Amino acid sequence: MSIEFEIRPNPQPVSDLERAALLTDPGFGRVFSDHMVTVRYAEGKGWYDPRVEPRAPIAIDPASAVLHYAQEIFEGLKAYHAHDGSVTMFRPDANAARFRRSAERMAMAPLPEDLFLASLDELVRIDRQWIPTDEGGSLYLRPFMFASEVFLGVKPSSDYLYVVIASAVGSYFKGGVKPVALWVSQDYTRSAPGGTGAAKCGGNYAASLSAQAEAAERGCDQVVFLDAVERRYVEELGGMNVFFVYDDGTMVTPALTGTILPGITRDSILTLARDRGMTVVERPYSFDEWRTDAESGKLREAFACGTAAVITPIGRVAFPDGEFTMTGTEVTERLRRELVDIQRGRAADPYGWVHRVI
Ligand SMILES: *Cc1c(COP(=O)(O)O)cnc(C)c1O
Repeated sequence: MSIEFEIRPNPQPVSDLERAALLTDPGFGRVFSDHMVTVRYAEGKGWYDPRVEPRAPIAIDPASAVLHYAQEIFEGLKAYHAHDGSVTMFRPDANAARFRRSAERMAMAPLPEDLFLASLDELVRIDRQWIPTDEGGSLYLRPFMFASEVFLGVKPSSDYLYVVIASAVGSYFKGGVKPVALWVSQDYTRSAPGGTGAAKCGGNYAASLSAQAEAAERGCDQVVFLDAVERRYVEELGGMNVFFVYDDGTMVTPALTGTILPGITRDSILTLARDRGMTVVERPYSFDEWRTDAESGKLREAFACGTAAVITPIGRVAFPDGEFTMTGTEVTERLRRELVDIQRGRAADPYGWVHRVI
């Protein structure tokens, strides 16, 4: 199926000079491109009016369902200038599939995957000048969808608006990779069995912010959540999955049980590590095990992974009774380099992960 987007170019795009200034140090999530994609859905009619249009505020009725009952999902992925001069994205088909699964969990209309993929290509093509050219920079794409029916009754919405915006982002690690410090939350959990932990929905993030604030108070960068039932097993951070690296070269990562977000970076690392002959076990991993093995030195390294930072070493881990620190970064650095090299087109792509846009 070919999908025809109506293209309405921005009549007042940001000037070359101003854009160049914005792209010198964009940070994360504050510098936006000139356009956005919108596609509407109505029950009985399906998806309609796919458009590329000037980025602008969206008027929504105060009774729109999303403002009351939070039917909202999103995705996050990046477009890059690859080594050979082409413009690429990393595994967008996996984001399309996850977006559909998130929609199904939240009782929303699933967006056809080819429409999702076409929408990203359209936005990247029209806003390609917003892709930073410096090492480590990228155009972060944020597809999202929300319930737009004007009705206060509690039920799945009959109308949805799907939008894609793009934000120029700089290298996550300006001035070198710095290990993150984590706070192990005791009072808060992120998701429970049967809940929405495996869906990429805004509500999960809203629920994580009190714990994140607590981490900041303790001088930590991020929270690590334990399972909601026993408060024993490590799940993930607020927005990144975790891996543990042992001195015999094996790795452990928490199994996907329905309460953990199935990260595409996580999946890519599993594939890469196993192809390199490493043993990677997906299983329940308790905080006690983490602490004991880090203290004995058997556990050399731990890292967090997700699209924004790719792979970040974990340094200090704080909890109410104390803290411990892991200092190894060798395997973490190697996996990070191998994955980034595939993403940026500097290494062969045997898995067909890189999607060429231009
Ligand atoms: C998006 C996300 C991740 C990481 O997923 P990637 O596909 O690797 O970017 C991990 N945990 C949560 C809660 C997330 O929302």
